Amino acid sequence: MKLFDIMETKGHEQVVIGSQPDTGLRTIIAIHDTTLGPALGGCRIWPYASEDEALTDVLRLSRAMTYKASAAGLNLGGGKAVIIADPKKEKSEALFRAFGRFVQSLNGRYITAEDVGTDVTDMEFIRMETKHVVGLNTDRGGSGDPSPVTAVGVLHGMEATLQETGKSGKFDGLRVAIQGLGHCGSHLARLLHERGASLIVTDINPERTDMAASEYNAEVVPPDQIIEVDADIFAPCAMGAVINPESLDRLRAPIVAGSANNQLATIEMAAELEKRGKIYAPDFVINAGGLINVSFELWGYNRERALRRTRNIYYQLRKVYKQSREKKITTQDAAMEVAVERIDIIRKISRSYRKA
Ligand code: NAD
Repeated sequence: MKLFDIMETKGHEQVVIGSQPDTGLRTIIAIHDTTLGPALGGCRIWPYASEDEALTDVLRLSRAMTYKASAAGLNLGGGKAVIIADPKKEKSEALFRAFGRFVQSLNGRYITAEDVGTDVTDMEFIRMETKHVVGLNTDRGGSGDPSPVTAVGVLHGMEATLQETGKSGKFDGLRVAIQGLGHCGSHLARLLHERGASLIVTDINPERTDMAASEYNAEVVPPDQIIEVDADIFAPCAMGAVINPESLDRLRAPIVAGSANNQLATIEMAAELEKRGKIYAPDFVINAGGLINVSFELWGYNRERALRRTRNIYYQLRKVYKQSREKKITTQDAAMEVAVERIDIIRKISRSYRKA
């Protein structure tokens, strides 16, 4: 891999490699852009097949965090860490404390958090070595489970998206199809039910669909049918790549708005959705509630303030839709533009200050 070429074209500032053989630590931290603030992003632990694969992943994920934080209006940059190990067999206090010391050596340029393969307990080991970690338990002054706030953000985003289609933004009488009733999907189901929406749900775990049927009177459909149910909104809250060449023509709902990451199998799907008259709420904008929530740990966590700030997702999406309409670009491209524009403006301001 031509690392410097990639860093130069994709805009990464710094890539740091850490190793401590006696703890099994093999880690890469990528700091993509710190124009807006320190780089925040989770620590993923995964048994990557090769170092190149780990590096490719951390470069891609750190860059995505820059745009997510920017679009959310946070004063944070984008970063990510990967640890090459099997989370089922190789996690230990020593490993995470060694990682914590490595994070500490960056002196706050990178702030770590939970991601795939890591949890609150791991964050507590990291916290023993560095204060540059968020995602701690509420009893440690942390923000706890982010998914209720992510669900609130998705709800605000749905409101903005409904308004874009000329509707009131109210949920009463609407039909919402939810794919996945895990942490986010189950909170979203409750919020929508409380607001008078009818729910059509699916999950591979029947306990979850049974719960939604009994608590929210939800209609349950098999996983392969959720995309084609008659609904006002399709809310992907499970896995990625749900909008793909195979599902595009089966999708009936005019709106795609949910918490899942990487909903589009490829970037071309955004234009394909538009051709079919659908509105897509870019995932990295609508699902930023969890990031907003966790970022509040940096200033002393306060749930009320985090929830108030999550309302920003509504305004950001209104801005994205306006830009998409005016420039005749997809909502995905407009969201990227909104994120990049903010970084560019702040970069110019800080340069002019330095010159003065
Ligand atoms: P989760 O693992 O708690 O829930 C996922 C649910 O989807 C589970 O109930 C699972 O059984 C179900 N599922 C899996 N495959 C399915 C399939 N083929 N069809 C139907 N259901 C299926 O995860 P989560 O924390 O709720 O996150 C959901 C999505 O939102 C993920 O893509 C995640 O990356 C994204 N996200 C989550 C947060 C957060 O705060 N938790 C924040 C941002 C983005």
